[in-house]
Amino acid sequence: MTTNFENYVLPTYSRQPISFVEGRNALLIDSEGKEYIDFAAGIAVCSVGHGNERLSKAICDQVSKLTHVSNLYYIQPQGECAKKIVELSGYAMKCFFGNSGAEANEGAIKIARKFGEVDGEPKRYKIITLENSFHGRTITALKATGQESMHNYFGPFPDGFVYAKSIDEIESLIDEHTVAVMIELVQGEGGVQPLDRTKVQALATMLKSRNILLMVDEVQTGIYRTGEFLASNLYDIEPDVITLAKGLGGGVPIGVVMTNRLDIFSPGDHGSTFGGNYLSCAAANEVLDILEAIKMSGELDEMLLYFEKAVETFAQKHPAIFLDHVGLGLMRGLRVNNAETLGKIINAARDEGVIVLKAGRNTLRFLPPLTITKSDIDEGFDRLEKAMGNL
Ligand SMILES: *Cc1c(COP(=O)(O)O)cnc(C)c1O
Repeated sequence: MTTNFENYVLPTYSRQPISFVEGRNALLIDSEGKEYIDFAAGIAVCSVGHGNERLSKAICDQVSKLTHVSNLYYIQPQGECAKKIVELSGYAMKCFFGNSGAEANEGAIKIARKFGEVDGEPKRYKIITLENSFHGRTITALKATGQESMHNYFGPFPDGFVYAKSIDEIESLIDEHTVAVMIELVQGEGGVQPLDRTKVQALATMLKSRNILLMVDEVQTGIYRTGEFLASNLYDIEPDVITLAKGLGGGVPIGVVMTNRLDIFSPGDHGSTFGGNYLSCAAANEVLDILEAIKMSGELDEMLLYFEKAVETFAQKHPAIFLDHVGLGLMRGLRVNNAETLGKIINAARDEGVIVLKAGRNTLRFLPPLTITKSDIDEGFDRLEKAMGNL
């Protein structure tokens, strides 16, 4: 089966030798019938777990009526979804719908470019991002990604991206052409690294005073991943542009860019064939209802603390291997003493029946479904403990 796969699919990923056939919340079953605890959730996508009954019913009900018409008509679930997102965020913004994180970030970059074009002289177009960031795989999102190692082969790139080594360096890089700063509040792919809250707040104030847009890439941190609806809520800042994707559709592709520049786009400025269709918005609406309820009931906050403690206890049992515990909410990482050991841990974990991820060079990453239960958390860490014994 795997041989056949490689004959037809381009090898852009180094894939693990498993294929899953079924799931139930934080459990996954592979084609051999083996069961796994899923601490990865499809890289923060399966926010309400696998096989969620409410989500699958909402999707089935919708697609049995309508799956797609174009954005030349009023798609009611899209309007509802935008309303929910705006209300949950607490920001006076409007939304544009696409299909992925990279597409959402492309929208953010277009908003910045148009803002810089229409907002006086000289024309402004430069966007400052961080060196250790990740913003997606399209040519422009890749250029916005500050990791030079990812820029091999694909140039020439669009101009106007400037990389800051850290948040402290951003102000010194601003010039008369700077229109926006784009950051992740917790750098996901970069190593589950949260930015300092006080520094982010100071940055937000400074940018506002200089009429430079603050754009927050919440593709991974958004949709309750850090415990609040948005990490921006947790950091208590008011960004000008926010992007969302991963956890929003519970597995159905969807991306959103939202902005407080309510009049930035006119008809024809931007678009997306599939963006915001009946399927993806029905899914997102149900996901948001499910997650809002577990946030309101206190269940999410309880699980978040429980998971954090489980990671900490696990790390403390292996002080020679795990050097640091990083992250926020249900987005957590352990810095491993070396990259080779990290690879071994991920493989041993898989053999014991628990799915974990890598981030950056040396971070063991946990992104469980937000609906995970205490017993699945306990079982997952028991299995991880066994895996450590097999290294
Ligand atoms: C995953 C991710 C992206 C890219 O999203 P895609 O849906 O793969 O295009 C962009 N930004 C951040 C912060 C991400 O974690």
